[in-house]
Amino acid sequence: MTRIAVGGFLHETNTFAPTKATYDDFVHGGGWPAMAHGPDVVKVMRKINVGLAGFVEAAEANGWELVPTISCGASPSAHVTKDAYERIVAEMVGGIAAAGPLDAVYLDLHGAMVTEHLDDGEGEILARVRKVIGKELPLVVSLDLHANVTPEMVEHADALIAYRTYPHVDMADTGRASARHLALMLKTKQRFAKAFRQLPFLIPISWQCTNDQPTKGIYEKLAAVQSDAVPTLSFAPGFPAADFRDCGPSIFAYGKTQADADAAADKLVALIEGHEDDFDGRIFTPDEGVLHAMELARTASKPIIIADTQDNPGAGGDSDTTGMLRALVRNKATRAAHGVIYDPQSARAAHAAGVGATVTLALGGKSGIPGDAPYKEAFVVERLSDGQFVAPGPYYGGRDMDMGPSACLRIGDVRVVVSSHKAQLADQSMYRYVGIEPTEQSILVNKSSVHFRADFEPIAERLLICAAPGAMPADTASLPWTRLRPGIRIKPNGSPFVPTAKSSSTG
Ligand SMILES: [Zn+2]
Repeated sequence: MTRIAVGGFLHETNTFAPTKATYDDFVHGGGWPAMAHGPDVVKVMRKINVGLAGFVEAAEANGWELVPTISCGASPSAHVTKDAYERIVAEMVGGIAAAGPLDAVYLDLHGAMVTEHLDDGEGEILARVRKVIGKELPLVVSLDLHANVTPEMVEHADALIAYRTYPHVDMADTGRASARHLALMLKTKQRFAKAFRQLPFLIPISWQCTNDQPTKGIYEKLAAVQSDAVPTLSFAPGFPAADFRDCGPSIFAYGKTQADADAAADKLVALIEGHEDDFDGRIFTPDEGVLHAMELARTASKPIIIADTQDNPGAGGDSDTTGMLRALVRNKATRAAHGVIYDPQSARAAHAAGVGATVTLALGGKSGIPGDAPYKEAFVVERLSDGQFVAPGPYYGGRDMDMGPSACLRIGDVRVVVSSHKAQLADQSMYRYVGIEPTEQSILVNKSSVHFRADFEPIAERLLICAAPGAMPADTASLPWTRLRPGIRIKPNGSPFVPTAKSSSTG
């Protein structure tokens, strides 16, 4: 029987963000399933939209025996602590070392993990796994579309396979694609030639959305380039908030021959470089965005939805900035709702006061983002929740959510969801769990950049993007880069990065 060791360890690191990811953050999971060990991994990884869950399903259909090690993820944030990384990787690599005879290893990784002690979290994981399994055993890895892929990751894995959708509605599909590629490797005993290319400009996440051009068309063409000669081919637009050498978009292709892999990769590079002008669009200030939404709402039959993109907890924000809430209240927006502000203290105060009470709070603004501060105002407590519910939309794909003690607070005609745990507002249920019906609002402001679009586009009249102070600038050129590779353009058509004397240090 074919025996495959599996594991998952997911983190997207914004090295400019305010808060690090600790071991406890991985135990809880944030928007990911809670940490699971050994046999529990395959119990958790069922019928949810996660790479490992898709792989488990395909592996069982193939009759493979799985040796699960550990699975965990945490909300995007600043660096993973050394403690968390070393404990989790020790369990994963130790589990693989102790697995007995294996035919292959599959790992579900993000690809943009930076730790307190390592720039390339995944490159180091794959190096350690390779050391344990030797050069011959196939090692296949699924990656997030936001992976900042490094030469070391490419070197140690037989195949890296990235998601092709943003919103990531194909995470489980990518696990299935990894199982297909692994089955091909096991059947043909073939090692595929690799081609890896790094592109010369950063792409802001708002323009990476695969529902829109140019990204949509790029992935359509990518799918057409894949063939028997090039069984897997990926484009990772990257996560442009990690200040290290390999931050940025990349292409990785696997071919029957080196020429096959090179030709496919070069074709994609030319295609994407030809679209450099097109990764662009309108970003509103908070007041402009709210006033424009109010104007549109007068004749709209469905909500106008604003992405509070810079405080996206799916990109390292703390989901607690107040710029958009202030703009809604200041401009007297009506039938407006905003979610989710992560503020355990205010959630606790709302629970203590009870439904119907008016509480004076210093809401949100606790992460110390320049230009932001707690919002000191009186709010009416409209509804309370324990924060347990299922998110059935296409992004979370039926995951059990745990937002902790939560509340719907009202100020004027603006309602705000306040939670005790952090997760990206990417499912309509994240309003409904505190009694807000999103389809009945005239304006929704979501703390998300793109993922919300999977569940909200069908109920939206229009989508707008606003830039209130937050940890994930919509304009990648505005970040204080110090350690990118020389010459990479810090936004499409932007100026090339030039290292300064102090930027050569590592850490
Ligand atoms: Zn991602």
